[in-house]
Amino acid sequence: MIKYPDSFKELAECFEMYPGIGPKTAERLTFFTLLNLDDESVEKFSKSLKKAKDNIKQCNVCGMLTDQECCHLCKDDTREKKIMVVESTKDVIAFEKTDSYHGKYHVLNGTISPLDGIGPEEIHLDNLIQRIKNENILEVILSTSSSIEGEMTALYIKKMLEETDVKVYRIGYGLPAGANIEYADEVTLIKALEGKKEI
Ligand SMILES: [Zn+2]
Repeated sequence: MIKYPDSFKELAECFEMYPGIGPKTAERLTFFTLLNLDDESVEKFSKSLKKAKDNIKQCNVCGMLTDQECCHLCKDDTREKKIMVVESTKDVIAFEKTDSYHGKYHVLNGTISPLDGIGPEEIHLDNLIQRIKNENILEVILSTSSSIEGEMTALYIKKMLEETDVKVYRIGYGLPAGANIEYADEVTLIKALEGKKEI
């Protein structure tokens, strides 16, 4: 049985906290850090980790990750009077890359999921109606995933918005059932956007 030094184990455990990294990869990354990275790189890595975690928060308005109180997309008043509702900042980035959507966003922090005890209160819906009024929004596009939870969340929001005059659309799903937006390619996303249906 090999006995690793404690600080080696500690570092490997840190790498293992990341998704997709099992004990073997964590060990490889630990060796790489110790044998191949110079002091300066390690210093930069550890500082960046802390700095990013301290400085990057959710935008007060749309919920996207940003290092400002209010993100650059919310500040941009050339954006169309539309709000696309998505599950995470990763989805915002995916849609921004397509350059075919020029409205605003609203990031939910996941979906309603009763089995996991996640209700509507937990997913950043509290200011959506207020935003629609304040920002004179004409159209909301519900772009939650096509999983059961994603559909349930879209239906909930649709009902919630009945008290407003806004048009509500569900993104068209050329996306495979249960697909995650963040993994979809750009063409699929553009098609999904073109195929949106009023609900
Ligand atoms: Zn924002």
